[in-house]
Amino acid sequence: MLDSQNTPPIIPPKLRPRPQSYPAAVKGILISEEELLARITALACVISQDYGNDEVVIVGILTGTIMFLADLTRRLSVPTQIDFVGISSYRDQTRAGQLEMIKKLNLELQNRRVLVVDDILDGGRTLQAVIKDVRSLNPQDLRTCVLLEKTVRRTPPIKADYVGFRIPDYFVVGYGLDYAERYRNLRSIGVLDETQIA
Ligand code: 5GP
Ligand code: MG
Repeated sequence: MLDSQNTPPIIPPKLRPRPQSYPAAVKGILISEEELLARITALACVISQDYGNDEVVIVGILTGTIMFLADLTRRLSVPTQIDFVGISSYRDQTRAGQLEMIKKLNLELQNRRVLVVDDILDGGRTLQAVIKDVRSLNPQDLRTCVLLEKTVRRTPPIKADYVGFRIPDYFVVGYGLDYAERYRNLRSIGVLDETQIA
């Protein structure tokens, strides 16, 4: 059973000033490093309780999940295996392009408990494509976890089982999330100043 207490915090649209070391293309901070880690610790606790002693195959969607996956999995008390799938929909721009499969799974998922992890659920096409792929491999069960969720643009009726934060409709970067492969290494989640990008 999924924990009904597990409602994600809703992040208001107000931005905080960016640290001096941050690039000017970042307009401001939406979620600080401390807020990220506190929420991820709570999320890991809920996920650990839900799975108990069952081994979970964590499937991270490249590349945006790298930081989240590292922080989340280190806080889980369940036994895990970790694999990655590569699918890309944003190609050097902030609008969704064609979905492209860039890396296949290595592990066998048949009769396994699978948790698919993504950085952000926006239109829903990425998660939908990966869910379809994983389902075809006959896992015992399949759940989904996203760090961030935007609620405005969802076309397929996709909901994640575990959500870190609900955010306003900004294009966000940092903590794994990129613009044209940049800014993934920023420690917090910031909002991209789209006027900076010619
Ligand atoms: P969807 O298929 O749900 O529309 O988009 C999900 C994917 O698009 C995510 O895995 C992420 O890579 C990318 N994406 C969606 N919104 C944002 C955003 O605000 N910032 C960044 N950097 N990527 C985003
Ligand atoms: Mg992604």
